[in-house]
Amino acid sequence: MAMIDPSFSRMVQERSGEPILRCYFCQKCSAGCPVASVMDYKPAQVVRLVQLGRKEKVLSSSAIWLCVGCETCGTRCPNHIRLAPMFDALRYMALEEGFKPDPAIYALHRSFLDSIRLWGRVHELSMLMEYKLRSRDLFSDLGMGVGLILKGKISFLPERIRGVSEVRRLYEKGDADGRG
Ligand code: SF4
Ligand code: SF4
Repeated sequence: MAMIDPSFSRMVQERSGEPILRCYFCQKCSAGCPVASVMDYKPAQVVRLVQLGRKEKVLSSSAIWLCVGCETCGTRCPNHIRLAPMFDALRYMALEEGFKPDPAIYALHRSFLDSIRLWGRVHELSMLMEYKLRSRDLFSDLGMGVGLILKGKISFLPERIRGVSEVRRLYEKGDADGRG
């Protein structure tokens, strides 16, 4: 019998600041999510599992490490629920509770964050190279998740966005708060 934690949904709602309990499973978030197809549970399924108190299932899922925080789901949700803060909260909770992400998925997550820290946006080629170094996966084809994110749009020269210093300040704040 799977363990159920009745306080889990309230904790996630409090930590994320998002009204998770309002979700009625319309699945618009999953339909628009660019990485849903490589998640073990789609975004709407994660919300439903949170509502049901399936803490262990959620905190051990790959989905919580694959969300790239693009905010597409928040703009589509009829209840104005933003899932990026929910996934942030779930990652912290997973680490606090000792759930270790799959090393290849964690490498992808870190490479994505580092690319944004450096360029203010995702630079696909440098992210791919860093991912390969981190995951020590130098010679095989791209991992499924990386391939999906790149979508054949690799550019060779990175281009910094104008607000890159603001993006870095956000990271510095996160580091000072013990995040990242
Ligand atoms: S779009 Fe909003 S209401 Fe619909 S399933 Fe996703 S989180 Fe729930
Ligand atoms: S914020 Fe995360 S869950 Fe929402 S659409 Fe973007 S990648 Fe998917």
